[in-house]
Amino acid sequence: MQTTIKKVVVLGGGTAGWMSAALLKKVLADRVEITLIESDDIATIGVGEATIPPIQHVNRVLGIDEAEFLRETCATIKLAIEFKDWLQEGQSYFHTFSAAGQSSAFCQFHHYWLRAKRAGFAKTLWDYDLNYLALKAGKFAKLEIRDTRLEMPYAYHFDAGLYGAYLRKISQALGVSRVEGRVEDVAMNQQTGAVEKLMLASGESIAGDLFIDCSGMRGLLLQQKLGVGFEDWSHWLPCDRALAMPTERLAQTPPYTRAIAHAAGWQWQIPLQHRHGNGLVYSSRFMTDEQAEKKLRDNLCSQPLGDPRVIRFRTGRARQQWHKNVIGVGLASGFLEPLESTSIYLVQSAIVRLLKYFPHQGVQPAVVAQYNRESCIEYEQVRDFLILHYKLNRRENSDFWRQMADMAIPDSLRHKIDVFAQQGLLLRERNDLFTESSWLQVMLGQGVEPCDYHPLAQAMDKSQLQGFMQQTELLKQQPVAAMSTHDDFLRNYCKA
Ligand SMILES: Cc1cc2nc3c(=O)[nH]c(=O)nc-3n(C[C@H](O)[C@H](O)[C@H](O)COP(=O)(O)OP(=O)(O)OC[C@H]3O[C@@H](n4cnc5c(N)ncnc54)[C@H](O)[C@@H]3O)c2cc1C
Repeated sequence: MQTTIKKVVVLGGGTAGWMSAALLKKVLADRVEITLIESDDIATIGVGEATIPPIQHVNRVLGIDEAEFLRETCATIKLAIEFKDWLQEGQSYFHTFSAAGQSSAFCQFHHYWLRAKRAGFAKTLWDYDLNYLALKAGKFAKLEIRDTRLEMPYAYHFDAGLYGAYLRKISQALGVSRVEGRVEDVAMNQQTGAVEKLMLASGESIAGDLFIDCSGMRGLLLQQKLGVGFEDWSHWLPCDRALAMPTERLAQTPPYTRAIAHAAGWQWQIPLQHRHGNGLVYSSRFMTDEQAEKKLRDNLCSQPLGDPRVIRFRTGRARQQWHKNVIGVGLASGFLEPLESTSIYLVQSAIVRLLKYFPHQGVQPAVVAQYNRESCIEYEQVRDFLILHYKLNRRENSDFWRQMADMAIPDSLRHKIDVFAQQGLLLRERNDLFTESSWLQVMLGQGVEPCDYHPLAQAMDKSQLQGFMQQTELLKQQPVAAMSTHDDFLRNYCKA
């Protein structure tokens, strides 16, 4: 398709639509005209309240002032996710955004830690992790230390509705045109099969050279019109429903998300400045909507501010994320359930990839194939990381968890687990969103005990190792003392 791309049409005004419009316009500026169509009659998903650290790149590219962003979206700081009852009831571990300890040139910290643990003088891995120490103290600060061992990566929890409105304001200020209306039909080019125009209920039609399908789970263009098909991953990730319910804010705002396992899925708790986000994710094969609602209501951490809303979903991805002149972004391109807060990141990543391969001179099949290959790998890497949490459970008290423990998993994941279990080695694929520290924390948290550690961890004698472990613990503890509480940070920073 050799049409020069001048006019981009974004269908959908959820997080995906407005983030796509804002980033494309900011980077491509006057080289393209961008129109976003959204319907006031079709609600956005509007959950998406927890993020991961790469969202800071979006803010930087868009020139967003962080304090204003926190104020406008009622955001809080996220240092980690707590996984409670995932291995078995009563057991809890954290997946922080930081890396525990300090590594030497050829030996990662966890090998020293494994050796010290066997010798009986190591604390838990997380006692050497700055994000964990800060969150346990309920504290946060923006550190200006240049020591890489004291990096404290963070993300945000925010009100998805407010975030959408904020991105819309930014997009429109950049020059994105907004059209309100419901798309009822799509005009295709009979020869090329490309999309030419979107027809609205009002009779208006919007023509474009390139279409970004951000229509949510409907996948109006990519799925319904172009029929690219869907790769269903529900045999690995069987949760297919969620109940979302806001409650009153807590007296003290924790700087982390909680993910609490229950008989047929898990429950989220997400702190915001003005309320607390609560929700239950479950598999409808193992739990009815009524049971889920009771479970959620029985486990709220504060007073409800409304009734629960049921959201149905299917885990998997579009077989092609780019087809003809349509690129699916956000829920229109797939969904992997919210356990590790990756969906908004996948929106960001899709747009960064599109900018890399932007078809200024027309859509080329080889470029489309490359885009699809990279999207596919990314989705599969995230999928494997999510399956890990379910597969390695030892909760033998419900059919759901027994089935999860027994399921066959992708070879790529089996290999990673085996290599870690045998020698404590962490395999991180190229471009994997999740760092070695992430894999380490979840594998340990889910009960994998490596049989061995790297021989270089023997380079210190026992008393040197003891000193090293103590010094590492102190190194990580020191910055916490000077931090303010998370609530004080939010108050002072947002005021400024
Ligand atoms: C239970 C749950 C929890 C989640 N939690 C997280 C989380 O913690 N972190 C995270 O990163 N992500 C999370 N997500 C995912 C996140 O909410 C979405 O990825 C994100 O909001 C993007 O959604 P979207 O914009 O693709 O779709 P939507 O929000 O569904 O928006 C679709 C848009 O398309 C428009 N539209 C649809 N059809 C038409 C039509 N015919 N004509 C005109 N307009 C139309 C609608 O009006 C709407 O504006 C969660 C999702 C679920 C289901």
